Amino acid sequence: MSERIYNFSAGPAVLPEQVLREAAIDIVNFHNKGIGLIEISHRSKEFMAVAEETETLIRELMGVPAGYKVLFLQGGASSQFFMVPMNLLKKDQVATYLNTGTWSKKAIKEAKLFGQIEVPYSSEEINFTRVPADHEYTVNPASEYLYLVSNNTIFGTQFQTMPNKDAMLVADMSSDILSRSVDVSRFGLIFAGAQKNMGPAGVTVVIIREDLLERVDEAVPTMLKYKTHAKEDSMFNTPPCFAVYCVGRVMHWLKELGGVEAMAKRNQKKAALLYDAIDSSNGFYRGHAEKQSRSLMNVTFTLPSKELEADFIRKAAAQGFDGLKGHRSVGGCRASIYNAFPHEGIEKLVDFMATFAKKHQ
Ligand SMILES: *Cc1c(COP(=O)(O)O)cnc(C)c1O
Repeated sequence: MSERIYNFSAGPAVLPEQVLREAAIDIVNFHNKGIGLIEISHRSKEFMAVAEETETLIRELMGVPAGYKVLFLQGGASSQFFMVPMNLLKKDQVATYLNTGTWSKKAIKEAKLFGQIEVPYSSEEINFTRVPADHEYTVNPASEYLYLVSNNTIFGTQFQTMPNKDAMLVADMSSDILSRSVDVSRFGLIFAGAQKNMGPAGVTVVIIREDLLERVDEAVPTMLKYKTHAKEDSMFNTPPCFAVYCVGRVMHWLKELGGVEAMAKRNQKKAALLYDAIDSSNGFYRGHAEKQSRSLMNVTFTLPSKELEADFIRKAAAQGFDGLKGHRSVGGCRASIYNAFPHEGIEKLVDFMATFAKKHQ
């Protein structure tokens, strides 16, 4: 096999090589049973064991307390934008949303179809360069929940700590789940598309407090009720078997490395290396996010001109640094450095950045 390049893609994103190799074997011959992983029944004892282990590991690694369900759903994180309010909110009820980027904007649009949505904070006028501190907004006490995107994948901002408000939190953690510890008991619901930090595309993990399952209006279609999936342990219909399996292998890998706390330390070191390179470049590289809102997962930065950015991305790609082009709504560059991204890849990128800056400064 040719050498693997450094994959800075925002999603689907880098996975541990060990997991890819395990999957390659299991797809053809799962546990030496003479049958491939993706051709066995989801109700076979082999696959049931995979699903169970995956859930157990997520619970263990995230410290999910009793009284919460872990669901494996489809439709991407984007389907949660409507499923959350559809299940948790009635037409005349209030929910509070923080507008910190493209993904929260899309969630707000969907939520407005179902209830009274209040948005006490938005950083849209400053192109989403920051997330708010607690004192910068208030939450209507009538709110059923406070919704946030914990890490803004496109703009490269992240809540350093979760909002400390007198409200049940609901969070889209698609791009930073399992990258640091969170106190799950403060959340009514957490969801994450797997394809950034936990596996391949195809499964969305939902962690929901059990008492919320009953809130849903009976008129909501069966497949769109969380309680349908909760009652059947995500086996109401065929789950995305391969994606669930891969998430399980990634959880295994994460546990072997020491779990979420150990991963958080690695992530801090990785991001610090890259932000130091930006900050010590005498303004050649400029971070998009304000310092106190900087994401440890998606590092966004610009160069002095569009031409230099294009040249930078092209030359980087030629040296095996893939996926550094920023999202079209921000421009510039973005290095996504999720859990599975290796430290050594950042060391090499930082060297490349220094050389490039010296040549063009
Ligand atoms: C990628 C992403 C989404 C969208 O995920 P899909 O699975 O493509 O629907 C939503 N929220 C965040 C924070 C994301 O990074």
